[in-house]
Amino acid sequence: MPILTRWFVKTSLQSARPGIGIMRHVHFKRRCAGVCYGAHKRATVACPFCVTLNRVDLARLGDRPKCGNCGRPILVDWPVAVTDATVHAVLAGTAVPVLMDCYADWCGPCKIMAPILDDFARDHQGAVLVTKLDTDRNRATTQRFGMRAIPTLLVFRHGREVNRHAGVISRQQLDALVSSPARG
Ligand SMILES: [Zn+2]
Repeated sequence: MPILTRWFVKTSLQSARPGIGIMRHVHFKRRCAGVCYGAHKRATVACPFCVTLNRVDLARLGDRPKCGNCGRPILVDWPVAVTDATVHAVLAGTAVPVLMDCYADWCGPCKIMAPILDDFARDHQGAVLVTKLDTDRNRATTQRFGMRAIPTLLVFRHGREVNRHAGVISRQQLDALVSSPARG
């Protein structure tokens, strides 16, 4: 598909007749729609092994993305850790909705939430980036988002918080929280 796209670009640019150029451009855009939609599904995630930030094309997860630094696999089918150091880049560099689970190791309700989030991440891989924030070790982010309880689930779109929920919720409620465009 990308080869086909390039061919249309080249043909359009080479055309000396504006009319044909426009026609072909329209044709190009129509063909491009599917490709571009996929190409823009990018996420920025920190490698779980070396913490290097990587840009991942979520439309090509089948290619098994690897860390550009250490070469080990970047997996987005389970919650990916974010920290005070990486959270800004992850939110700013991710085109799909981001769900952030703000937890603590000693928190019982967080442990109840964990398998629900694992399932959600697996079911929505490539469509929603599921992240987790250790609130004990990342106080700046915890304060920045004004978290008063854990677990707190935050939903971001285009880097902005659009929804949040404090406390344990069911899988069904989690689906609704992420898909709802407005604060619930
Ligand atoms: Zn790495």
